[in-house]
Amino acid sequence: MQEMPLPLAAPTTLLYHTDSYLRTFEARIVATDGAAVAFDQTAFYPGGGGQQADRGHLMWQGRRLPLAGIAKRGDVVWHALEPGGAALLPVGATVTGELDWDFRYHMMRTHTALHMLCGIIFRDFGAQVTGGQMYPDRARMDFAMEGFTPDCVQDIVACVNEAAAKDLPIKVYSLPRAQAFEIPDLIRTKINLLPPDIATIRIVEIVGLDLQADGGTHVHGTREVGGITVIKTENKGKSNKRMEIALVDGNG
Ligand SMILES: [Zn+2]
Repeated sequence: MQEMPLPLAAPTTLLYHTDSYLRTFEARIVATDGAAVAFDQTAFYPGGGGQQADRGHLMWQGRRLPLAGIAKRGDVVWHALEPGGAALLPVGATVTGELDWDFRYHMMRTHTALHMLCGIIFRDFGAQVTGGQMYPDRARMDFAMEGFTPDCVQDIVACVNEAAAKDLPIKVYSLPRAQAFEIPDLIRTKINLLPPDIATIRIVEIVGLDLQADGGTHVHGTREVGGITVIKTENKGKSNKRMEIALVDGNG
């Protein structure tokens, strides 16, 4: 997406934080800048934490205006339109946003799958995750672990798939910073790296399996993930391992 110079705009209400299943929404344009517009509220996920930004389009007066990109700068989510699109939209106009739901739902399932992996690898091997990235067809996760045999990879995958079959609920809630810092599960995921000005911390909990500070969108239960399969594993160093997974299709 092109670089967007940004005027001041009011913070965007993040609808995807409270309802990750919202596929369409109405919003009022509060600012425009070049090819980009900001709304009072949005269900479009702007990317972050390894989860890719949403895809989709706006509807306005019968016109369908595709989005070229979505990005969050500070408290404001900017929606870049394809050439000519933003010029049509006056501040104050009400538009309908429509997500590419197939893409988003796949991201949600993949994101929850990575958290399941994270919880299982920590539970069974005491290993911490050091990074992760989601793609439309796969995801990778890096973690600090020394031994990494084909057997343990198979065990990890079996545990993820078992947890998926149990349909563990996923809860999303906020905690005051001080309270969050007292939870050992959160400390291991390095919440101390969050900027100090964040007063409340959004928690994503896979009940009985994983607890993380997280800004992404997740499914409601692990059964929606379906199952995972390993595409490849890589040795990135003595204690740096990489695992690439894909969702098992047909189970979503
Ligand atoms: Zn996450």
